[in-house]
Amino acid sequence: MSALAGTPARQAGSPRPTAWHLLVNNRLATVGLCLIVAIALVVVLAPILPLADPNATAPANRLKPILTSGHLLGTDQLGRDILSRLVWGARISLTVGFAATIVAAILGSAIGIVAGYTGGRADNLMMRGIDMLMAFPYILLALAVVATLGPGLMNALYAIAIVNIPFFARNVRGVTVSFAQREFVDAARLSGKGPFAIVVTEILPNVMPIIVITMSTTAGWMILETAGLSFLGLGAQPPQADLGSMLGEGRAQLFTASHVAIVPGVMIFLIVISLNLLGDGIRDVLDPRLRSGALASSGPVTEIASGRIALPNTHRDAALSTEGLETGFRNGLDIVPAVRGVSLHVKRGECLGLIGESGSGKSVTALSIMGLVASPPGLVRNGAVYLNDEDVLAMPKSRLIASRGRRVAYVFQDPLTTLHPMYPVGRQVEEAIAAHQPIGAAQRHEKAIALIDKVGIRDAEARAKHYPHQLSGGQRQRVGIAMAIANDPDVIIADEPTTALDVTVQARILDLLRNLQRDRGMALLFITHDFGVISEMCDRVAVMKDGEIVETGDTRTVLANPRHPYTKRLIACVPELGTGPLYLDRVAGLLHSQERRSS
Ligand code: ADP
Ligand code: MG
Repeated sequence: MSALAGTPARQAGSPRPTAWHLLVNNRLATVGLCLIVAIALVVVLAPILPLADPNATAPANRLKPILTSGHLLGTDQLGRDILSRLVWGARISLTVGFAATIVAAILGSAIGIVAGYTGGRADNLMMRGIDMLMAFPYILLALAVVATLGPGLMNALYAIAIVNIPFFARNVRGVTVSFAQREFVDAARLSGKGPFAIVVTEILPNVMPIIVITMSTTAGWMILETAGLSFLGLGAQPPQADLGSMLGEGRAQLFTASHVAIVPGVMIFLIVISLNLLGDGIRDVLDPRLRSGALASSGPVTEIASGRIALPNTHRDAALSTEGLETGFRNGLDIVPAVRGVSLHVKRGECLGLIGESGSGKSVTALSIMGLVASPPGLVRNGAVYLNDEDVLAMPKSRLIASRGRRVAYVFQDPLTTLHPMYPVGRQVEEAIAAHQPIGAAQRHEKAIALIDKVGIRDAEARAKHYPHQLSGGQRQRVGIAMAIANDPDVIIADEPTTALDVTVQARILDLLRNLQRDRGMALLFITHDFGVISEMCDRVAVMKDGEIVETGDTRTVLANPRHPYTKRLIACVPELGTGPLYLDRVAGLLHSQERRSS
């Protein structure tokens, strides 16, 4: 966040919401949390509370109603104090339920991680075993396990743990598979870490949230299953009580003394509902999309502040201009500005370079132009964007959305993430055409092939049938460019289109973009962090630092005579073969490439 250091909008007193804040802000989760903490406190303190002996029978006092003196919740069919049995019973139910949750979580997650990480035959074998477990109705399976092991609390615990292993194994395996393919795991492998170390230090921290979420959402369920087995007489054995066995014993008196069954029933209900509410709250907090405070999904157009001051257009002949554009991100209650006072303009047939280091606000500027900044948390606070002198931010949403691709097209940095992995590239180009041009399928196909050919992919007809992963990085970017020019837009915004490519491919892509732009007379807003590329491509340049434009001018003039120290530093960053650290030589080299370009 160095780019934003010193911005005044980040006030003390309203920091980024923590997980705890988010949980407490969720009212239902808070109710669940309070309830379960209260119950847990009572059952933990059971030995020191002034309770009667839960197993002491007193036949003379049997089936006393609620609020009898000495027996707050009455007595059962053997004259035992229901309050005392309830507290001790809840203690057992909670212990067994939580223990089963932990056992299932450990075993299930271990299976899931091993299966997901090793893959292949081991994965297949383990997952088919899990499928077999899941093919039985769970209560039947639990009954079968208890029937084999014999009735008793410990055996009920094992049965419930076994029955719940598949939930953990499946969830964890799914996430592990996706992480096992990621670059950071490859990097760990290359650094010489063994499989065990990788699983523990790389995979486990990433799947931990999933394990916790699954635990929090199944704990209530497992307590219910414990009660179910005890209700059937297979869990807690007399005289020991748990909530399920109390409910089972009370069933016989349901019509004569209903409180004997209702009291443990209400307790089970309270425990399970509070655990479920809390579990949902924990899940919401651990979901990374919700953690940033963005509790809603993003809308189709960036939010525009109601008090936006739309400055008038000072370049009415420009294809695209921005005036005092200011975009920020909501963070709790305040708004952290990302770009401020950005005024740019690009004419038809012109290329404007926008340069700045990573994090300086180039992408936010580019995305603000067509309202593409994700909102929440994004917000355009001030300024205006003019497209052929029409205020974009004042357009009706439908018109703004229809202008994307048609009047302004984007080329992004990494075409692998912007192309759909499941469709052939030809079809994706066709879709870009179909979005704005009502032409027949055959004509569309023809046009797509022509576009793919136009951007320099050889054998376009065959290549159109290929999927993005079958193309090289440069070819993918060419497809991205084909999609951008598909509807003959007035303006193309290219956001670091060559950063992910190697130098030779980069040169070819830059050539392609420049030629297309000249041929078609489009305005090009070209974003990069490399002055070398600017000198090759652009007529004018705007230098961005910490969200503000610090210098603009003709590329030649800025190169020859940079005024801002930051511009000088950026120019000095361009490596030039054989010139060593001499800044002036670099400028000479860059100016030379400018001359080559203009001739
Ligand atoms: P770059 O110049 O590398 O393209 P960006 O425009 O992506 O930089 O980012 C500019 C600033 O805006 C950065 O400081 C970044 O932290 C901030 N920013 C970008 N996207 C978001 C977001 N979704 N939420 C909060 N801050 C963001
Ligand atoms: Mg960027």
